[in-house]
Amino acid sequence: MARMLAAEAAQYIGITEDELMMSRARGLPPGTLGSRVAPGQPVTWDSEDLLPAPDAVPQPVCEQCGFVAASPRGLATHERRH
Ligand SMILES: [Zn+2]
Repeated sequence: MARMLAAEAAQYIGITEDELMMSRARGLPPGTLGSRVAPGQPVTWDSEDLLPAPDAVPQPVCEQCGFVAASPRGLATHERRH
């Protein structure tokens, strides 16, 4: 694991440093996943904390009826039934 400064952490997860700091200011992740190792130190992020959680991966949802498919292939099969 590695601790990263804001610019590095933002790049790691594919957002801008401004977006990362904005989420922190709003009290939302991923900004709030950062912390200071000691008072007066810059806020840093642990690379392990920034990996997307498995359940955070969006599942394909049918736009017509809201059916949640297990996979894109499953959604395609479902949509053919409409
Ligand atoms: Zn549907």
